[in-house]
Amino acid sequence: MGTLTDEEKRILAELQQKQAEREAIPPEERIPITHPDKYAFPIGIPDNVVLCPYCLGAIEEKVRRCPHCGRDISHEAPVEMTLAEYQAAERIPCPFCGKDRLKLAKVCPSCGKDVRS
Ligand SMILES: [Zn+2]
Ligand SMILES: [Zn+2]
Repeated sequence: MGTLTDEEKRILAELQQKQAEREAIPPEERIPITHPDKYAFPIGIPDNVVLCPYCLGAIEEKVRRCPHCGRDISHEAPVEMTLAEYQAAERIPCPFCGKDRLKLAKVCPSCGKDVRS
């Protein structure tokens, strides 16, 4: 991993905190995420989510490194989806860590492993 900016560290810490909060809830009591993290929505574009091109985790457009999978995305165009598309996208468990990820993702947002094969 390279050096993260303070802003990226802040986002990463927030994400880890949210992930920890979510994991503290027993799986059967979890409710689907209907409001993905607010920092995924640039002000003025409330209906679009910006996603990492590798793991399809919600990111801020300006980040150079994905806070989920850790990939350098400074030279990659982020994937954009509407909120409805993002919520409806099929999710399947990662074969490595078992956490849910978008089926279309190339990389698991939780463990960072390549899940294409
Ligand atoms: Zn990513
Ligand atoms: Zn994984």
